[in-house]
Amino acid sequence: CGIIGYTGPRPTAEVLLRGLERLEYRGYDSAGLAILDGGVVRAVKVVGRVERLKERVAVEGPAGGLAGIGHTRWATHGEPSERNAHPHLDCYQRIAVVHNGILENHGELRRWLESEGHRFRSETDTEVLAHLVEHAFEGDLEEAVRAALQRVEGSYAVAVVAAHDPDAVVAARHESPLVVGLGKGENWVASDIPTLSTFTGNMLVLEDGEVASIHPDRVRVRTLDGRGVERPIFRVEWQA
Ligand code: GLU
Repeated sequence: CGIIGYTGPRPTAEVLLRGLERLEYRGYDSAGLAILDGGVVRAVKVVGRVERLKERVAVEGPAGGLAGIGHTRWATHGEPSERNAHPHLDCYQRIAVVHNGILENHGELRRWLESEGHRFRSETDTEVLAHLVEHAFEGDLEEAVRAALQRVEGSYAVAVVAAHDPDAVVAARHESPLVVGLGKGENWVASDIPTLSTFTGNMLVLEDGEVASIHPDRVRVRTLDGRGVERPIFRVEWQA
């Protein structure tokens, strides 16, 4: 189970697939990615190896796009299947979410969201997050993610992309690891340092309850309730 996110000028799918290969050692049953491609979210998911995902992406695309997220899943809620693989999308397919961890109050949130008219496509706990972000969205993706996360109980590392903010990745963590990788005109987020060290040597470790808003030229970290946080940058040995 692992997460990778990227925003910058490189071919996004290639970066995400390389990141997912580096995350394979953590174990998983399915894999997927979503890329913002011309104002729409395009997702590709498979059961099985990252190698299969690579083959599917080669046939279906998307290759380009400004930002994207990838995921290796170790199923906890809902069997390993293409439908349950991440990323999970909102009703309008304009928001995509990847998540590692367990959302304890997903049942209650799902019932409430369904009563508000949201239609679910999977059996996962994670899907509530995509709908919660959609529900909270009023023009600012980071704000919507913070509002959504304030309603969930449990553990998470998440990364979110949205068509409204096509070069942004918003990432957050609580009791699940997440590290931001810093580049020049490009930035990453991933579950661990070895994965990021294939791309960059400059990193920033998120703490529990922190949200990073990541654009190609800037990274801003805040607490869930919106207070600014200064995280020191640290350097690791870089192996391109
Ligand atoms: N609980 C989520 C699911 O079952 C995420 C599992 C994971 O950490 O990969 O889909």
